[in-house]
Amino acid sequence: MGVYTTTNPATGQTVATYEEISDAELQDVLGRSHAAYQSWCVTDLAERRAVLARAAELHRERAEELASLLTLEMGKPIKQALAEVALVASIYQYYADHVEEFMADERLPISGRGTAVVRTEPIGPLVGIMPWNFPYYQVARFAAPNIALGNTIVLKHARNCPQSALATERVLIEADLPAGVYQNAFISSEQVADAIADDRVRGVSLTGSEKAGAAVAEVAGRNLKKCVLELGGSDPMIVLADANLDIAAKAAAGNRLFNAGQACTASKRFLVHASVYDAFVEKLTVAMSAYDPADPTSQDALMGPLSSAEAAREIDELVSAAVGQGAQVLLAGGTAEGQGAFYRPTLLAGVTPEMNLYREEVFGPAGVIYRFETVDEAIEVANDSPYGLAASVFTEDMDQAQYVTEALETGMVWINDTSKSSPELPFGGVKKSGFGRELSRYGFNEFANKKLVRDP
Ligand code: NDP
Repeated sequence: MGVYTTTNPATGQTVATYEEISDAELQDVLGRSHAAYQSWCVTDLAERRAVLARAAELHRERAEELASLLTLEMGKPIKQALAEVALVASIYQYYADHVEEFMADERLPISGRGTAVVRTEPIGPLVGIMPWNFPYYQVARFAAPNIALGNTIVLKHARNCPQSALATERVLIEADLPAGVYQNAFISSEQVADAIADDRVRGVSLTGSEKAGAAVAEVAGRNLKKCVLELGGSDPMIVLADANLDIAAKAAAGNRLFNAGQACTASKRFLVHASVYDAFVEKLTVAMSAYDPADPTSQDALMGPLSSAEAAREIDELVSAAVGQGAQVLLAGGTAEGQGAFYRPTLLAGVTPEMNLYREEVFGPAGVIYRFETVDEAIEVANDSPYGLAASVFTEDMDQAQYVTEALETGMVWINDTSKSSPELPFGGVKKSGFGRELSRYGFNEFANKKLVRDP
């Protein structure tokens, strides 16, 4: 059986390992999830609200302890780890505050023939598969709305953040969530497939790579299970000629390098109008240079290591291959000698469609910049990606901003800012960035049975 492992990417030291559970134990987990659903699906909303509010409170009370696990397991700078815990608290709080509103019946008039009601009901046990880049946040986006709705959850987390996975489960149990409503399960990909296929399971949500998403969607499709996928992104930032370059460059560096560049909605491609290209490159390289990788436990660290030495090596290979094919290096970062997972900010130009870097999601601190002459050219390059998650446009001209916004094939667009997550805002993409939405009312409704009841 495989293992789940805590390896501190800042030191390369493995500090804890956990065995995967057996197939028989997985059956017990699924049995408990199914049994818990029978009572949780009809629980009083006040009880669900209280559990969620208490989960929010516990995240606030234990912020330091919870944040330090993120720093240990995936190298997130401690300040960013604290910010993640605060965001997670706000997500549990949001669903506590809105559960009655989101569960309320919707009355539909039928022209001249009375009314009908649409009820919102849960559908049953769900499987969640989550990644390591925001170990609490990715789970909260799925768990909070579904706990509110009355579904139960079996959660398979990434194998490099087992302690964060257990911490979430612990907090929810201490928030008085009844046994079996939320269970962490250290299982393999094969066991995930068995769990999805199990008749007791009614849906699955995955955040992660395109490859994992396709594998899970295939099993879900074969078994006719509802599936939500939040996959990668190669988000474009379009900087028009009239943009405030100081604001745009600062936002570009911050968004590209936040979480050491390991975010699906990081701005990964900078598309800049020719008239301001040189000035923007100068400002961006200065802004990116400030993010020298540092000890993530330090309060001053803007960027820590990547999640693993392997992740740093993969980025290095992608960048080196592009440079070998003629890409120009505007900011020479790369791996720091002898420091495994640390990778300095890197900026490339002259990236062409023949290079893998042009299409692949660059999940680390390396950005690519392009020069354009017309807005339509920028839109064409922005849309020439398999992904369609978020995008941003920087301009003082709101008509131009609207024009660009309408033309972009993405699930989210930000004007004069870069993508930021908030419980009130739906989050999700199109194309190979996946389907479905998380957070807000939209996320709440993904695994709901919208039951029509026709009044007599
Ligand atoms: P993965 O997509 O492989 O991992 C995410 C989760 O999916 C983990 O829990 C993983 O489990 C699980 N998983 C992987 N394959 C399967 C499968 N066939 N069936 C069921 N579950 C599966 O991401 P990686 O960590 O390997 O990162 C690779 C790339 O994915 C990144 O470079 C980035 O491009 C993208 N990514 C995007 C994220 C996002 O936020 N959209 C987050 C993380 C990665 P296990 O750990 O056991 O493999």
